[in-house]
Amino acid sequence: MIKSIPYGKQFISNEDVQAVVDTLKADFLTQGPKINEFEKKFSEYVGSKYAVAVSNGTAALHLCAMALNVNESSNVMTTPITFVASANCVRYCGGNVFFADINPDNFTIDIEKIEQLILSKPKGFFSGIIPVDFAGYPVDLEELKKLADEHDLWIIEDACHAPGGYFMDKKNKKQSCGNGNYADLSIFSFHPVKHIACGEGGMITTNNEELYKKLILLRTHGITKDVNALQENHGGWFYEMQELGYNYRLTDFQAALGISQLARADEGLERRRKIAKKYADSFANRLFIKGQSGYIEGHAYHLYIIKVDRRKELYDFLRLNNIFTQVHYIPVHTSPYYKLLGWKKGDFPLSEEYYDMCLSLPIYPTLTNEEQDFVIEKIVEFYSL
Ligand SMILES: *Cc1c(COP(=O)(O)O)cnc(C)c1O
Repeated sequence: MIKSIPYGKQFISNEDVQAVVDTLKADFLTQGPKINEFEKKFSEYVGSKYAVAVSNGTAALHLCAMALNVNESSNVMTTPITFVASANCVRYCGGNVFFADINPDNFTIDIEKIEQLILSKPKGFFSGIIPVDFAGYPVDLEELKKLADEHDLWIIEDACHAPGGYFMDKKNKKQSCGNGNYADLSIFSFHPVKHIACGEGGMITTNNEELYKKLILLRTHGITKDVNALQENHGGWFYEMQELGYNYRLTDFQAALGISQLARADEGLERRRKIAKKYADSFANRLFIKGQSGYIEGHAYHLYIIKVDRRKELYDFLRLNNIFTQVHYIPVHTSPYYKLLGWKKGDFPLSEEYYDMCLSLPIYPTLTNEEQDFVIEKIVEFYSL
């Protein structure tokens, strides 16, 4: 009997363990030199000017919303098919969340639907958009930014699923997720199921110096010790709290783990793409299974999602065979909290139809060929029963 197969799993190497142990024995436990090193290497990896390491992806989203001055009068759009944090960051700042339905082919937010939503409201109603590179499928930010600029909207790219992902722009140039060329801010998560694991952890990338400085301040209580920024200076101990910030710091030993993981990120991505290709090839001629289609060259394959009939039965059948698939995600607008805010089932039919049929299959760098074959075999067996 094959051991149990989850849908996603972290990969901690001996080098990772050593990197953490070395940092535990060094001078800094919380923010120290490893933070700067992680930020520098991560910004190089995605191609952005700046990076700010924070305690998790949700904190990253919260700080982005704060830095862009989201408040009670802000109206912000996102997709129903995402982890709740993509929407919640707007609520943390008192703003209102609006949803635009998904593109049924690639399951990311539909840019045409965003435009329709914008045009259905008075001019200046919306302040920003939070697109999600869902499952690792990069949103066409060139297209989205054109629309955003026409209506004076900012963009926070939720790239939690897409480190290493990219799309090709109109000049056929690679545009990496989080590179800051289109989005004002991009965020990543280092939760164990994501590509790079820190235990908990997050990163914000940007090319905007002003936003970068604001994020650095907000990450540590809004406190600065920078003598050039102080309004007064009473001596060497002196600091000022200039804004209401939080403690959203990442620790140095988590950053050490992140650095070590980042060094293997491309290798992991390569393996994910191979696994995805094998699933796609195996299901190609089976009408009952529909994958995320369309342009997928720069897909980062955080998830491999199929749409199937009899999803619940398949899920249970696989579970009996020790294969633990997952559903990503329950549409955010149907959660009890968002229902209280006035949203209801039926508001976004394509997202809801997607939810009824979607299933995330096992995909992670240490998934063996034998394990993947077993998953495929069981799915095929289910539909021929
Ligand atoms: C994981 C995830 C988050 C939140 O990240 P945490 O580090 O768990 O707080 C936000 N958005 C998406 C799309 C995610 O997958």
